[in-house]
Amino acid sequence: MPKLTRRQFFKFTAASVAASYLAEKQAFAKDNENDKTYPLMTAGAATSYGICHFCSVGCGIEIKTKGNEIVSTEGLKNHPINEGALCPKGRSLKEMHNSKLRLTYPLVRKPGSDKWEPISWEDAISKIANKIKEVRDNTFEKTITTKDGKVVKVNRVNGMFSLGSAEIDNEEAYLYTKFNRALGVQYYTHQAEI
Ligand code: SF4
Repeated sequence: MPKLTRRQFFKFTAASVAASYLAEKQAFAKDNENDKTYPLMTAGAATSYGICHFCSVGCGIEIKTKGNEIVSTEGLKNHPINEGALCPKGRSLKEMHNSKLRLTYPLVRKPGSDKWEPISWEDAISKIANKIKEVRDNTFEKTITTKDGKVVKVNRVNGMFSLGSAEIDNEEAYLYTKFNRALGVQYYTHQAEI
C-alpha cells in the first residue's frame, strides 16, 4: 500500500470531508425538494433551510431568496415536527422580512412627549442598562426573615420581570436565563409558557 505523506494525508482528509458534506447537502436538498413552490417565482433563487422562529413549535422551513428578498417560504418536507406544513404565520414570514414597514432601528418616547423618535443603538442600550441598574439598586433584597424568625439569604431583585421571546433559540434562551440569574431577577419566563 502506498504511503501517504503528512501533507497528502491532510489534503485527502479535507477532500473527503468536503465530498461527504456536499453529498449530504445534496441528499438533504433532494429529500426536501418542495413540489409546492411556484417554479416561475422561484427560478434562479438560492435555497436555504432554517427553523421558523415565530413560536415554540419550531417548524422546519425552506427559504428561497433572490438577492436580499425572500421569494418563497415552504415547510420542510422531511422535518420531524411539521412534515412540510406551515401555519399562516410561518408561511407569511417572507412578508415580515420584505416589508418596507419593518422597524430596523430603536425608537424612544421621551418623558412628556406624545411621539416616538429614532434613537441610536448605543443610546438605546445605555438607557436600558442605566434603567436596569437603577431598578436593581432600588429593589435588591439580600435576605428575608421567615415566619419563625430565621434570616435567609435570597439575593434577588423584586422590581423586575423579564420575558423571553419565541424569536430566540436554545442557546440564546440559555444566555437569557444566565443573564437573569446573574442579575438576581427571579420573575422571568418565556413566551411559550404564556
Ligand atoms: S410555522 Fe407556525 S406553528 Fe410552525 S413554528 Fe412557525 S409559527 Fe409556529
